[in-house]
Parts: sequence; structure tokens; C-alpha cells
Amino acid sequence: MTQLRVVIVGAAGRMGRTLARTVRAEPRLRIVGALEREGDPLLGRDIGELIGEPPVGVALSCDPLPLFAATDIVLDFTSPAATLAFAELAAQARIVHVIGTTGLGPADEEKIRAAARHARIVKSGNMSLGVNLLAGLVRRAAAALGPDFDIEILEMHHRHKVDAPSGTALLLGQAAAEGRALDLDAVAVRSRDGHTGPRPPDAIGFAALRGGSVVGDHTVVFAGEGERIVLGHRAEDRSIFARGAVRAALWAFDKKPGLYGMADVLGLL
Ligand code: NAP
Repeated sequence: MTQLRVVIVGAAGRMGRTLARTVRAEPRLRIVGALEREGDPLLGRDIGELIGEPPVGVALSCDPLPLFAATDIVLDFTSPAATLAFAELAAQARIVHVIGTTGLGPADEEKIRAAARHARIVKSGNMSLGVNLLAGLVRRAAAALGPDFDIEILEMHHRHKVDAPSGTALLLGQAAAEGRALDLDAVAVRSRDGHTGPRPPDAIGFAALRGGSVVGDHTVVFAGEGERIVLGHRAEDRSIFARGAVRAALWAFDKKPGLYGMADVLGLL
């Protein structure tokens, strides 16, 4: 069996280490590179050692060029600025780039679309099967219940998370907006404070809680007169995202260049 070569960027991060464990357990994949920022105190350490496993013979490096030139797949859960730079390199190398990074703005998304003319990019604010299934249910519920039901999305994450609302909350908001044939950017209410006035009828509201070690809780509330429908997902372990990323990489390997989502990978469309 030919193994596909994988580079993990942000390899010393929370998701980077989880990806390293998941890729090691997948016989169709082989880690050939691990990247961190220049100056990271862990540079030079073996990636196996970083995850408390036997050495794999791959040292943490800070030079992406040789790594991108000699891999089939890049797994990327880092930061928006880093992901944009990696997308350009992935396009030059015409490889698979799986992007889990959240917090990208509209201009960043445009650059990702441009990179996807040459790279096979799978990007999702949440790589788990459960959340992508939930998005499908939210789309259907929003369409079936209609405008008499107000849609509110609540999320909670660990204290280290730096962006809000979460990429998953936005993904669920997008699904709700599609169900109602609305433009999410036009109807999203991303925070509330002070005298806000009454709720606009088509609004899709977001609320974010931060604290402790919560991996990711999401709740979508459809609030009508005298009743509420509540759909939700609780992530208990980061490995659900890593397993989704690995599945996305294996799926994308023989696809044409383009920008794909987890609904494509999981056949949920
Ligand atoms: P984290 O622990 O901070 O890990 C990110 C890692 O990327 C850090 O080690 C960081 O290094 C590194 N990095 C940043 N810029 C870099 C660069 N230019 N070159 C090399 N490495 C770089 O964060 P996390 O919790 O793993 O989350 C990472 C991202 O994934 C976030 O956007 C998060 O929201 C997202 N996420 C997505 C999903 C999903 O399913 N889509 C699931 C979980 C998390 P420094 O510490 O030096 O900055």
C-alpha cells in the first residue's frame, strides 16, 4: 500500500498534536513534516516525542518550503494569517490543503478561493461528522418552521479561544440562513449590549461563552409563540475534528483542484 505524505502545520498546537496522534494511527498516511513558527522553543524536537509516543524521525521545523515541495497533504489548524500564506504555497505545489483554521474574514476567503484554482482545498469551521449532520438538520428545520420562529445560536468554548462567534456557530448560522433563503451577513446579530431595541424579525442571533476546557458546545434555538425547538451538539474530544480532517484529506486526494466543504466529503449534500 502506498502511503500518502502528510505535513502538519501548527504541529505543537492543541489541534496540531491531536492531528499527529490521529495521522499516526491511520495506515494510509505518513507524517513527513511538522511546522511551527520561527523561534518556537520546541523546534528540532521529534513530533512523536511531542505527543508522548515513540519518535517518528520527523523534527519540528520552521521552514515551510521544503516541506510543501515533498508532501501530498497539508493539515492546517493554525491562524488566519498563517493559513493564507500556506494556501499560496499549497497552490504552488498543487497539493491537498485541509483548512480547519477559523476567524478568516471575507477578503481572506477570497484569497482561499483563488488558491483553490490550483490546490485541492477542503475547508470547514467544524470538521466533525456530528456538527455537519446538525447543519443539515438546522437547514431543514429553518425551512420547515418559517419566519414565525426566531433563530438564536449559542456556543461555549475553552478560555484560550481567540475568535467569536466560533466558526461552527457561523457554519450553523449559514445553514439556518440558507433554509430561510436569507443572506447571513445581512441578518446576523453577532452580539448584543445595552439598549438594543426589539429583535428584527429575520435576525439570526449569536451568543458566545468562554471558559474552562470546553472543547465546543453549540445550541440552535428556534423560538416560536409558546414553543421552542432546540438542536445541539457537544464535542467531548478534539479527536473528532482530527478524524474529520484525515477523512477530508483522503477524500480530496484524487479530486480536481477546487474549494470543498465537509458536506462534500461526507456526502451530505
Ligand atoms: P493553538 O493551540 O493556538 O494552535 C495553533 C498553532 O498554530 C500554534 O502552535 C501556533 O503557534 C501555530 N501557528 C500559528 N501561526 C503559525 C505560523 N505562521 N507557522 C507555523 N505555526 C503557526 O490553537 P488550536 O486550539 O489548535 O486551534 C487552531 C485553529 O483551529 C483555531 O482557528 C481554531 O478555532 C481552529 N479549530 C477548528 C476546528 C475545526 O473543526 N475546523 C476544530 C478545533 C479548532 P503560536 O503558539 O506560536 O502562535
